[in-house]
Amino acid sequence: MDFYQVFQQYTWDEIRESIYQKTPQDVIRALQKSGKRDLEDFKALISPAATGFLEEMAQLSHRLTQKRFGKTIQMYVPLYLSNECQNICTYCGFSFDNKIRRKTLTEEEILQEVAVLKHMGYEHVLLVTGEANQTVGVPYLQKVIRLIKPYFSQISIEIQPLDQDEYEILVAEGVHAVLVYQETYHEEDYKKHHPKGKKSNFQYRIQTPDRLGKAGIHKMGLGVLIGLEDWRVDCFFTALHLRYLEKRYWQSTYSISFPRLRPFSGGLEPKVEMSDKELVQLICAYRIFDEEVELSISTRENEIFRDNIIKLGITSMSAGSKTNPGGYVVEPESLEQFEISDERSPQAIASVIQAQGYEAVWKNWDRLLQ
Ligand code: SF4
Repeated sequence: MDFYQVFQQYTWDEIRESIYQKTPQDVIRALQKSGKRDLEDFKALISPAATGFLEEMAQLSHRLTQKRFGKTIQMYVPLYLSNECQNICTYCGFSFDNKIRRKTLTEEEILQEVAVLKHMGYEHVLLVTGEANQTVGVPYLQKVIRLIKPYFSQISIEIQPLDQDEYEILVAEGVHAVLVYQETYHEEDYKKHHPKGKKSNFQYRIQTPDRLGKAGIHKMGLGVLIGLEDWRVDCFFTALHLRYLEKRYWQSTYSISFPRLRPFSGGLEPKVEMSDKELVQLICAYRIFDEEVELSISTRENEIFRDNIIKLGITSMSAGSKTNPGGYVVEPESLEQFEISDERSPQAIASVIQAQGYEAVWKNWDRLLQ
């Protein structure tokens, strides 16, 4: 049984109703529980009933995070390789129907971008592409990974979902982590947001982490795009997916991101707004639910929010990011995938982290140890 079959045993509306029916007593029970929390606890922690317990949740999340991860925040940076994409996604600036100039970095241009990232101090890089198999398929990625491997201790990718044998090739090349966001677990509305291209295949996408687990990936990143649907229900399914994967592919580690829909050229307005307080609630809920999972926050969020979230459960942060191919030096003016909110330099972010008594970690993994 793969996750799609597990997923089909649930209905969106029933899950939604059961989250909204949770009471303050359910929240207290989840907070006071010793040992691993279950999915009913998670529902209580993300429910409206938990909004009155934010302080208790924040304190517990802080303690659990420090116990498992110490006072550290891992630093990473995205490197956008291409904005070519065959998919139509209603929320993305790179969507096929968006009339922008398309660009895929050459090897020479990649090395120019890498030089800037190295100057910033980065050891962990996240390669990002659109979904265009002809230009940025596995052979292109293999070439890029071989090219930049000498410069980074950890290479992660956020690219089109692949078959298991293709992931095996990339794992053998040294890819450390693959991020593949489901965007939404609302199957019907998923199709509305992805009307054209390979990404419109909901089943193939939701089965991607299973293929990654079988391919032996070291780490996978999950998440949904917050704003497309009711975030509480979408995040319940993310937690369900996480727990399923952890049991099944226990050799892998996991991370979760919680991107909120950001403005972009020709952009979609969020269907459901999530407030800053609700995002804090969600981050704490994930941590209390799962003490092992890494929680990542990007520059989509603003400075004040990012500064205040450092102690509450986060384990990794990007900084100084550009979300356009060539954005660091080659073609800074090209269209971004979405607007950055926190534009401070990596060193400025590292200082903020240090001022809170935490260490900004640039390297926590060495390929020689693999
Ligand atoms: S979200 Fe990804 S797949 Fe969709 S249009 Fe943007 S780059 Fe392409």
